[in-house]
Amino acid sequence: MTELEKKRSAAPVPSEWTYAPAPEARDIVSLEERYGLFVGGEFVEPRSGEYFPTIDPSNEEPLAEVAQAGPEDVSAAVASAREAFENGWSGLAPAERAKYLFRIARILQERSREFAVLESLNGGKPIRESRDVDLPLAAAHFFYYAGWADKLEYAFPNRRPRPLGVAGQIIPWNFPLLMLAWKIAPALAAGNTVVLKPAETTPLSALLFCDVLRQAELPHGVVNLVTGDGRTGAELVKHEGVDKIAFTGSTEVGKAIQRELAGTGRRLTLELGGKAANIVFDDAPLDQAIEGIVNGIYFNQGHVCCAGSRLFVQESIYEPVVSKLKRRLQTLRVGDPLDKNTDVGAINSKQQLTKIEELVAAGEAEGAEIYQPPCRLPERGYWFAPTVFTNVAQSYRIAQEEIFGPVLSVLTFRTPDEAVEKANNTPYGLSAGVWTDKGSRILAMASRLRAGVIWANTFNRFDPSSPFGGYKESGFGREGGLHGLEPYLDFDGKADSFGG
Ligand code: NDP
Repeated sequence: MTELEKKRSAAPVPSEWTYAPAPEARDIVSLEERYGLFVGGEFVEPRSGEYFPTIDPSNEEPLAEVAQAGPEDVSAAVASAREAFENGWSGLAPAERAKYLFRIARILQERSREFAVLESLNGGKPIRESRDVDLPLAAAHFFYYAGWADKLEYAFPNRRPRPLGVAGQIIPWNFPLLMLAWKIAPALAAGNTVVLKPAETTPLSALLFCDVLRQAELPHGVVNLVTGDGRTGAELVKHEGVDKIAFTGSTEVGKAIQRELAGTGRRLTLELGGKAANIVFDDAPLDQAIEGIVNGIYFNQGHVCCAGSRLFVQESIYEPVVSKLKRRLQTLRVGDPLDKNTDVGAINSKQQLTKIEELVAAGEAEGAEIYQPPCRLPERGYWFAPTVFTNVAQSYRIAQEEIFGPVLSVLTFRTPDEAVEKANNTPYGLSAGVWTDKGSRILAMASRLRAGVIWANTFNRFDPSSPFGGYKESGFGREGGLHGLEPYLDFDGKADSFGG
């Protein structure tokens, strides 16, 4: 440590930041008391007759009632998608399909503040993130795939790409609108129609998106939305009228879906969990790395499948990294998701909070050392303080299992070989990060890490042109880029290159 660094680290850390509150106005969002299902271009009452409340996880206040789609409702949505596929959408000139996608992208941009506020209200994520990450990326996905819609013959030369038919899409609660965009944009660009099921806890931005579809005058039935819990998802998976399932969520449900579809000839892509390694070498720019570590695990409360939840630090820099990290944690603001100063928002649901608490207790019981910065958590709602575990062994549950919360496990390594071996020692393989000054080391590490996405001197960066997906228990198939179109296309009857 230099003299300057010693002085800096000895300086007292301010315990209370006196920011003026900067709440985003929530009145830009007007909610219905109760939402039906979006089938055939209009909202309809569920035939099941069932509804359930959806809440704001930051204060447990109910926001609206949402329909629980039953088997008959799923069938009606699939029939509507089939009808739209056969009688119009699949035969539409590709440039016309592109126009609708461009329209949707532009409307999302125009209404982005409304969507950002709603996403934070229903999901608990900080407005800064929904405003600056979720919304721009969701629009960017529609723009990107709009560009491909009339160029499929060029994208896949001599392979005669054709749409598959009806895509059933099931998405999780961590990036509700962005996951919807990842799913719907390539499916429509390739000429398919869609039945989408949002997560039980975060259906509202998908329901508002149906209004965007009406504004864009998308032909009726091209996109249908069935809300509900896991039972609705299971109905969609087993429905024989669905040609392809695209699922993002837990590895456990992904495996069940794979079993259900085995032998049916229906296509499947799975984007499942992760336990990413974020590897910091001793020549890395440390202050930048600290920001990357924080962004890697505390972004979206750690509800991120590619979160950098295992930090591997080269032994020689362990002390400065851990002390800088702890200091940085003390400056994170945890609280109201709609406050523009907030860094860490609410945990998405009671169920997820219980899971985080259980795994954190297991980490302490197994002997890891816990650190949480002093911070006052709101009394109502679901909250968990940013947490760092040191003294973690590879075998501990917190180093093996996906926590999906703001909890980081710090481990060490001495050589690049050891870093690779430890990083790959997981059933998952979704993402990884490497921090070093040497370009050659980045390339050498990237070629040995078994992860679908590898970031160098950054973390959690996304772009619609870049394919995203996993190895091993993180799933198969890619979303984003040209790769993301393949699972929605048939090539002279042959399967796509992922065997889906
Ligand atoms: P799930 O895998 O249960 O949820 C993902 C989606 O699948 C939701 O829309 C869910 O509906 C639906 N679903 C649930 N059961 C079935 C089924 N049998 N057939 C078809 N669809 C189904 O994740 P959870 O919300 O329960 O979260 C549990 C854990 O999963 C988290 O703690 C985290 O570790 C991991 N996870 C990983 C994600 C990722 O991006 N890789 C995203 C979300 C969770 P519903 O919401 O109504 O249950």
